Amino acid sequence: MRELTSEALLEDVRRWVAIESPTQDAGAVNRMADHAEAELRGLGAAIERIPGTDGFGDILLGRVPGETGGPGILVLGHMDTVHPVGTLAGPLPFRIEGERAYGPAIYDMKGGNAIAIAALKHLHATGRRPRLPVTVMMIPDEEAGSPSSRARIEAEALRHAMVLVAEPSGQGGRLTVARHGIARFHLRAIGRPAHAGAYHEKGRSAIREMAHQVLAIEAMTDYARTIVLNVGTITGGTHENMVPLGCEACVYVLVPTVDAEAEVHGRLLGLRPANPDVRLEVRRGLFRPPYVKTPAIQALSDHATALARDLPFPVAGERVAGGGSDGNFTGALGVPTLDGLGVIGDGPHTHEEHLLIPCLVPRTTLWVRLFETLDAPLVAAAQAPGSSVAM
Ligand SMILES: [Zn+2]
Repeated sequence: MRELTSEALLEDVRRWVAIESPTQDAGAVNRMADHAEAELRGLGAAIERIPGTDGFGDILLGRVPGETGGPGILVLGHMDTVHPVGTLAGPLPFRIEGERAYGPAIYDMKGGNAIAIAALKHLHATGRRPRLPVTVMMIPDEEAGSPSSRARIEAEALRHAMVLVAEPSGQGGRLTVARHGIARFHLRAIGRPAHAGAYHEKGRSAIREMAHQVLAIEAMTDYARTIVLNVGTITGGTHENMVPLGCEACVYVLVPTVDAEAEVHGRLLGLRPANPDVRLEVRRGLFRPPYVKTPAIQALSDHATALARDLPFPVAGERVAGGGSDGNFTGALGVPTLDGLGVIGDGPHTHEEHLLIPCLVPRTTLWVRLFETLDAPLVAAAQAPGSSVAM
């Protein structure tokens, strides 16, 4: 891509969105990986593709040499989406309305993947290179908490000087400099089955029990402390003419600190069944630890803000993001991580998901400038002992 134009960038984004890739469909995610692999190959990256495990798609790495040696920049993106196959032909077709382009995962985060790679394509097409080596790492299972990728992400992060994450920007173009933690807990109620017509009084309904628990769990939400409990999925029962034996629910929990996660865990373990004949089980699931802004992250954020100052979409400040990303893993390890460098838009995970077309050229330009100017001393100086930062 010699010239960064809205049309060319939007076409790149469209090609990402055209391949639907829900997390649970490994074949679909791998078709997305095929596309990303072809893009990275085309700009001269050395490809490494790690076969998927646990029913998830492949992990894809593309390594681009820099003008100087490593350790370099790790660019993190995820290929999977929450939207099932059929969303594109159904409730959320790719379409343009005024300044907005709509489509499944266009904002979270196929738009971000497309522009980060477009920036590398642009450098390649114009005979330039990033200053530091760049590794683009594409993840197949982020929307499920990255269970099959976490160890690989952490190992790669530790080999790099810094991490840039192409997750969506905050409102108006804010960068993400810290993230809260995201925990998952799995609940199971085990009741006593009975024929619902003939012996209803002998049964103990697991669904009825879970209904009590859902209210108790969501009441633990404390917005003032940034603790949010959302019962996101629930399944139970086998037939409408039976008192249900089992019911399962998954609770998605936002926490500001590791201690708050432990506190929530303790409270969930303390739940008692409303009906003593029903058994209740609580199992801890995946946890993305929170990370906070360090002096090195501040240095990255200041640097990006300065680079974007004269662009039509300057960086609109910083934010601490609620939703987790793979940046949680790298930030919690202490590797300087700047997140939210993707596209500007709104409606992630909904049928209103869109990006703002006018952000495409300036945001891609920001990536180009970051690749051309970021060097290891920038973050190393900020990581030196004794340096500090105001939060
Ligand atoms: Zn995302």
